[in-house]
Amino acid sequence: MRIPFIAGNWKMFKTKAEAKAFAEEFKALYKDTEVRTAICAPFTQLDTLKEAFAGTTIGVGAQNVHYEDEGAFTGEVSLGMLKEIGVDYCVIGHSERRQYFNETDETCNLKLKKIFADSEITPILCVGENLEQREAGKAAEIVEGQIEADLAGLSAADVAKLVIAYEPIWAIGTGKTATPEQAGEMCTLIREKVQALYDEDTCDQVIIQYGGSVKPENATDIMANGDVDGALVGGASLVPEKFMGIINF
Ligand code: PGA
Repeated sequence: MRIPFIAGNWKMFKTKAEAKAFAEEFKALYKDTEVRTAICAPFTQLDTLKEAFAGTTIGVGAQNVHYEDEGAFTGEVSLGMLKEIGVDYCVIGHSERRQYFNETDETCNLKLKKIFADSEITPILCVGENLEQREAGKAAEIVEGQIEADLAGLSAADVAKLVIAYEPIWAIGTGKTATPEQAGEMCTLIREKVQALYDEDTCDQVIIQYGGSVKPENATDIMANGDVDGALVGGASLVPEKFMGIINF
C-alpha cells in the first residue's frame, strides 16, 4: 500500500525568520496523519526547518544538489552538505531548473545516481510537458522520454524508493490546474512506463505525485485517481492553513 505524500516546494520564498514563523504556525495545526508530509525549502532554511520539525513526522527537503562530491562549482551544494543537515528529500529536475538553469535529463540522471549511491535521501524527480507539447499531442511521448532518460541505469530497488512528480509546465503557478482526468491519465502513464522499464513490484511501490496549482479546493478531486499518490505544492505550501488543507484532502 502506497502512503499518500504531500510535499511543499517553497522555491525561492521565505527568509529564515519567515521559515521559523511558518514552522511554528504549521506545527500548531499539524496532527500526525496517515499522510507523509515534507517542505522543500531554500538551502539556507534547511537547518532551521530540521530544528523546528525535530520530534515531528514532517520531513525536510532541498530543491537541488550537485552530483560531484566537491570541487570548483561556484554556487552549488553537495550531497555531503545536505546529509550533514539531515535532509530527508531532494527535488531533482524541477521544470524551473530545466528551463532557467540548464538542467537536462543527463544531469538529472547523474544526480539521482549520486543520491541513491551515497545517501538515504529520497529524490523527488519532476517531469512534465509544456503547453506547446501538450497542444501538439506530445505530452505522453515527452514524459515517457524524460522517465526513460532520467532513470537510465538505476536499479529496480532504487526506483521503488523514488518519488516522481508529474508537473505539466502549463499548470505551474498559473492557476490552471490539470483536470483530475488529465492528472490521472499522466500518472497512470508514468506508472506503466516504470512497469515496462522495471517490473510490477517496482511500479506498485513508486510514489507518483501531481503538481501544478494544487489547492485545498481541488486536492480531493486530483487525488481521487488511484495512480495519483499525492501532490507537489508550490504557492499553496507557503501558507500553513492552505498547506494543511491539502494534507487533510
Ligand atoms: P504551484 O507550483 O503549486 O505554485 O503551481 C508547483 C511546483 O512548481 O512544484
